This record gives sequence, structure tokens and C-alpha cells, in this order.
Amino acid sequence: MYSEINGRKLTNSANKEIYLISDYKLQDLKNIVICDAIVLDYNDKEGCNKFLRNIRQSLIESIYLIPVFILSQFDEVDLVSVELSDGIISTINNPLILEKTNLLAQRRDNLKITEATSTESRILNKLLRFYYTRNKELTPVLNSKSHIGYEYPLISGHYKVEESIDLLALLNNLVDQDLFLNQFVDKVKLCKNCSSSFLNYREVCPKCNSFNLVAEGLIHHLDCGYIGLEKAFGNPRQLICPNCEKGLWQFGVDYTKPTGTFSCNNCKHLFRESTKNVFCFNCRNITTPEMLINANIYSLKITENGTKMAIGEVKKEVEKTEPNVSGFVSFTTFTTFLEYEIQRTKTTNIPVSIGKIKIDISINDKNRLGHRFINLVEEIGEFIKNTSLSGDIITVGPNDVFLIISPFNSLTKLDFLLGNMQISIQKMLSMSFPEYDISVRVKSNFIDGRTQKTEMINDLIR
Ligand SMILES: [Zn+2]
Ligand SMILES: [Zn+2]
Ligand SMILES: [Zn+2]
Repeated sequence: MYSEINGRKLTNSANKEIYLISDYKLQDLKNIVICDAIVLDYNDKEGCNKFLRNIRQSLIESIYLIPVFILSQFDEVDLVSVELSDGIISTINNPLILEKTNLLAQRRDNLKITEATSTESRILNKLLRFYYTRNKELTPVLNSKSHIGYEYPLISGHYKVEESIDLLALLNNLVDQDLFLNQFVDKVKLCKNCSSSFLNYREVCPKCNSFNLVAEGLIHHLDCGYIGLEKAFGNPRQLICPNCEKGLWQFGVDYTKPTGTFSCNNCKHLFRESTKNVFCFNCRNITTPEMLINANIYSLKITENGTKMAIGEVKKEVEKTEPNVSGFVSFTTFTTFLEYEIQRTKTTNIPVSIGKIKIDISINDKNRLGHRFINLVEEIGEFIKNTSLSGDIITVGPNDVFLIISPFNSLTKLDFLLGNMQISIQKMLSMSFPEYDISVRVKSNFIDGRTQKTEMINDLIR
């Protein structure tokens, strides 16, 4: 039978439009909206996986919510396809197809029309509606090709690799808002510069910074207290102490082998404590293990609250028109970075600087300025971006506050920087808006590992 879908209609008792697709080459995604469900043939694994990803990566509800089953007789189906599909079947007359299709149709009928304009809120809607209709957990899938080592197949496609932290921030935010409940899966260490997990940990010679080191065996002769390289004790079967010239008798009784000694092939330096550094394969940044981002990977389950929002019973907060400065992270992402810094400071005890630049303006003046105020904030943001140091994480938060985490700068340096910014911005304001009373306040602080995220944010945005 001819149809717009390049596939075979499967006859069924409920007379539903269910199609089996085996050829993925000339398939147009839009056509599937007329189907009640589709079955994808796993004989062409790559074609099937790609087509399924395309369906679920759409932001159009009638496409991404469609029930999809995978027909695989002999092959084990890849994890991403399992996560994205509604079931794996080995024959086309499996009753699961109809059962699940009916169930999903019922749940889809509950969904009220909601409005979402920004991409972020469309992604949020999609997460809520997909996992509400499916009633299953959002599970991260291990993927060595993924930037952070894991992917969330339903939404990973909406983020560029350099936006991976934004994705994690969105998920954290869902939990903070009690829309999803999280469960710990894994901990990943990410490059602070580009958030890649493709990292190389290396021991470094503390003297010459060479990586060309060899681990050396040591022997501690307990009788005389001498510690030296194993090779200096001669024949391994008949060890003789070079210090007291006695023969060594039994391991653990008259001698031991301390571990963790290196010698440098470059400068011949012998040392116990090697410095460790981390090389990022992705951006070639070199840093220390303490400076990496420690991000938790969670699986997520929709909550009662999330269900209400998914079906449209409760409305989301009205979206604000926020100033948009390139190079700034969203406020959500910023709070996630802050959380990472707090965690990191706890383990390293190296305090990190955080600061704010606040625009003080009366509500009246703000209303008088109207849209010009957004432009003004954007202009100031542009200035801050250009004056701050690379590696600084900046956002515009509530109450017209610019927030800066400055991981690589001391508090004194940040203080100095903020002071200069304050003078320049104040000058710019009195020149451009002489008839308005707008002032600039700055403040800096330590992320000390003891003060909680919310407390710090509340203190800064005041
Ligand atoms: Zn060396
Ligand atoms: Zn000895
Ligand atoms: Zn990197």
C-alpha cells in the first residue's frame, strides 16, 4: 500500500496507523506525525539509531512523543536506542506494540497546550512530557565519544559540546525545582576550561617538569636504617646492603620496600612526591587535579510536581526578557559552577574569589528607561566581559547584578579589577544618562567551602 511514509503498514485489531520502517535513506521525519506508532527495523543498526535520534531530538511534540519500537530478532540493541525507544520486540505481532501505543495515547491526551518560546523552556517541556508519558527514568548512557563521558540521548543533541555544563545545570535545576528526583550514578572530572572528560593525568618531575619518569623500587634495611634504590642492593636473589654490607635476609622481617619513588630520566632527580598534572586532550590546557570540575552524573525520575507541570496543570514562571551577552553563562549554569567551586574548595582548601557588580537604580527610573535599560545592561555586560580575565565565569543574575567567579585570581586581584570596573561604568553612566540616578556597587568574597550556594547568592544579589 502506498503512503507518504516509506514503510509497510502493519495490520492490527485496533486499526491503528502503525508502520514498519526498514529503509532509512529517503525517510522524511515530518511524515511520521500521521502515525500512531512506528516500528524500526534494527537490521540497519546505524540507520535505525540515527533515525530514532532524529525523532527524539526534535523539539516538535508530535514528532518526539511518537511511540517507537525496535524490531530486532537477533542483535542486541545499543543502549541509546534502548533509552530512546518504547520497547524492543523480536516479532511484528508482539502485543506490546498495541498495549503501549494505547497507553501512550491516553497519557498524551492528558497534555494541555502550553506555550514555550525560548529553547531552554522547550527542552524543559520536552523532558517533562517525554518522561511523564513514558513513566520511566531519564538515564545517562555511557559514551566514550561524548564530551563528558555520558550522554542524555533525549537532550544531548540540543547542546554543543562546549555547552555541556549548561546541560548539567539544566538537570540540576530540575531537581532544585522539585520537578525531578535524582539518583547518583557516577562522578566525572571535567576540564575547567572546556568541560571535556578526555584527560591525561601525568606525574611530573618537581625539578624540571619532565613527564619522562620511571618508578623506582626502594629498599629499607631495617637493621641499619638505610634506604636506597633497589638496584644498589645488587643481585635480587642475594641482596646486600650497600651501607652496612650485611646480606638481607627476609622481606618484612629485616627489610621492607617503600613505594612511590620516581627518578627523572631528564635531570636524574630522585624524589618521593611527584607533582601531578592533567592535560586536556580537547583544549590542550594543562592544570592540576585540584582544579578540575567534579560533576555528579545522576539519573532522574519525574516527581508529582513535575507531572503536574508536564500535563500543564501548573504554569511555569513567566519567561523574562533577559539581557544577552555573548560569553556570559546563564544564571542557572552559574549556580552550578558555584556549586562545583564550593565542592572543590572543600577538598583543596584553596579559596576561590567571587565578586559582584550591582547596578542600583530605582524602579521608577528603570520603568522610564524601558527597553533602553536592557540595552544598558547588555552594554555594561560587554564591558565587563572585555575587562575580566579569561577563565572568569560571568552571568547576569536577578536584581541587575553581574556575578563573577574568578578561579584563577586572588581576592586582591579581583578587588582591584572590580574597583576599576566600578569607576569606568560609573563614568559611562553619568555621561550617557545624566538625568538618571544610577550607581554601581561592587563587592568581592571568598568561596570558602563552608557557606552554601543559596546563602552566597542571596548575599551577593542584595
Ligand atoms: Zn627532572
Ligand atoms: Zn644496612
Ligand atoms: Zn579542556
